Amino acid sequence: MRDICIVGAGVAGLSAAIFTARADLETLVVDGGESILARNASLENYPGFPDGVDARRYLQAVREQAVAAGATVESGRVIGVTRRTEGRQGVRLRVELGGVGGDGEGETTGGGESGGETTVEGDDGSVGDDRSEVIETRRLIAASWPDSDYLRALDVERIKRGSKQFLAVGQGGRTAVDGVYGAGRLAGQPHQTVVAAGHGARVGLAAIHDADVAFYHDWVTPEGYFTGRGREIPPGCEEIDDGERRRRDERARETIVDRFAEPLGAEPTMHPSVDGE
Ligand SMILES: Cc1cc2nc3c(=O)[nH]c(=O)nc-3n(C[C@H](O)[C@H](O)[C@H](O)COP(=O)(O)OP(=O)(O)OC[C@H]3O[C@@H](n4cnc5c(N)ncnc54)[C@H](O)[C@@H]3O)c2cc1C
Repeated sequence: MRDICIVGAGVAGLSAAIFTARADLETLVVDGGESILARNASLENYPGFPDGVDARRYLQAVREQAVAAGATVESGRVIGVTRRTEGRQGVRLRVELGGVGGDGEGETTGGGESGGETTVEGDDGSVGDDRSEVIETRRLIAASWPDSDYLRALDVERIKRGSKQFLAVGQGGRTAVDGVYGAGRLAGQPHQTVVAAGHGARVGLAAIHDADVAFYHDWVTPEGYFTGRGREIPPGCEEIDDGERRRRDERARETIVDRFAEPLGAEPTMHPSVDGE
């Protein structure tokens, strides 16, 4: 049984995963395609990049960060979600794996265990057919712009605007169905990367809160920030001394220099209705 399954390894889904994985919730992210941001030619309004950033490089970096935090990312398209019959809290996910993954490899790229809790069921109920997988999870974050059809069997309200469907969500992306959340564009957020990232984080925090794990703010502070005032270091927080702060800064600089050293060479994805050459 997973703690969290996140549908969509785009901006919102990966941002949520960074938070839930860092809070030690076993986090599986499943993606069946690529982020709509892969169509962007130059991402110039994301805070922290004064001259902009290649959108595909940004997506790679967010994925790397989610995996480093402990999330598992798998290729696969979610095609249905049903409630577990026992009446216990949680939902059952049916995930189709195969050559539809964004990285085209259909493999686990995360740092966590994959497959340990997974039951593989054939169409006739036999175990061993690798065409589909049933994953059980306590919570589900739908961050799968523009697809929410797989939620049809649940009472998640969907709102139609033009040709698009959005999830009706409340605070923290909570839907009317216990344990099911919506994040990013799918949850009706404005069509901007920083908004999707922020909303993903917000929804991840709501899921952490609902999971009732010991958690404060996920802050890293200088040594003594809490303990110097006679306070215990709150759960989710970390105090580091100056040597460790310098080590982390050095590692962060090395990583950025390495990842940004060469042009990525990946072209933006064109809108599917634009004619090819
Ligand atoms: C051409 C273009 C240019 C843009 N330029 C900018 C810009 O300059 N600045 C800016 O701020 N924003 C820009 N955006 C907007 C930005 O890309 C989106 O707002 C942002 O990506 C939304 O994040 P999201 O996580 O909600 O969706 P996405 O990032 O699209 O992630 C959704 C993920 O869900 C996956 N998925 C969908 N269905 C399923 C399923 N059933 N099972 C498994 N996985 C599934 C998809 O494969 C995808 O990876 C641009 C968008 C476009 C189209």
